Amino acid sequence: MDTQQLKQAIMEEKKRKGVLILAHTYQDPDILEIADIVGDSYALSKAAQNVPQNKVLMCGVRFMAETVKILSPEKEVLLSHADAGCPMAEQLDPAEVRRYRETHPDHAVCAYVNTTAQLKALADVCVTSSSAVEIVARVPQEDILFIPDKNLGAYVQAMLPQKRIHLMDGCCPVHNAITPQMIEQARRAHPGAKVAIHPECPYEAVRLADVAGSTKEILDFIHGSGDAVIIATERGVYDALVRQYPNRALYQLEPELLTCHDMKKTTLQGVYDALTGKGGQTIELDGQLLSAARGSIENMLRYGGR
Ligand code: SF4
Repeated sequence: MDTQQLKQAIMEEKKRKGVLILAHTYQDPDILEIADIVGDSYALSKAAQNVPQNKVLMCGVRFMAETVKILSPEKEVLLSHADAGCPMAEQLDPAEVRRYRETHPDHAVCAYVNTTAQLKALADVCVTSSSAVEIVARVPQEDILFIPDKNLGAYVQAMLPQKRIHLMDGCCPVHNAITPQMIEQARRAHPGAKVAIHPECPYEAVRLADVAGSTKEILDFIHGSGDAVIIATERGVYDALVRQYPNRALYQLEPELLTCHDMKKTTLQGVYDALTGKGGQTIELDGQLLSAARGSIENMLRYGGR
């Protein structure tokens, strides 16, 4: 089948089987087109709670499908590509976090929601990239182990000098590739353009930007202004924006480096195969693990997370 035929076949199959398709913003535009809902990982899992469909197909990476399952345990959740993982979410050993908890019983553990169900289950509270500063500020402990992203943790530390943020050696290899020199060079190449950056990038680069925020915050900034913008996050954001605003001065920083190959494992053929039972993977989580992981998400809501 060619691209158009595949898209048509997916639309018919999802309707016939009553499947909701979620797509993370970093997916290719063709995938965004066949999705019912597009957004950040946590926003997608929240949206899936309120739909009538009992089957959900996540076009993204494993931790995102897990979060959908944690918030909607009664639904059947499929990941579009069985090998689409996230190096940041999966690189920390849960045993290391358990040991830390034993040796630092007075420290709180905050987990970026972009992590595995195991690490969520070991945390006291989850945070999103847009709520991290707000939530950590409200956690009563002064000492906080922030996992798994040392860059987002460093950003939180810079915003909250009254807290002592402890970090482990984990990060998003895609965003971590950005250096302050790349930002300076892009500014020289595009004088007057604003820089919008994701706080998963190293803080030395983040501090040079005009706007630091989640994917949604970056999109809101671009939708709400007529400025020329250098976009320093995964290139899927830029790829979608240039279709929407073909005449805007938008520049992708380091497109090769800022490409997440795990996100791009999802293809139209893969989505079709998952819908027809020939691919993808059903997410199964042990009941105890699921409820512990859900507890740290519920704590995020208690602390005012959205
Ligand atoms: S962009 Fe980074 S955090 Fe997001 S899925 Fe890819 S490796 Fe993981």
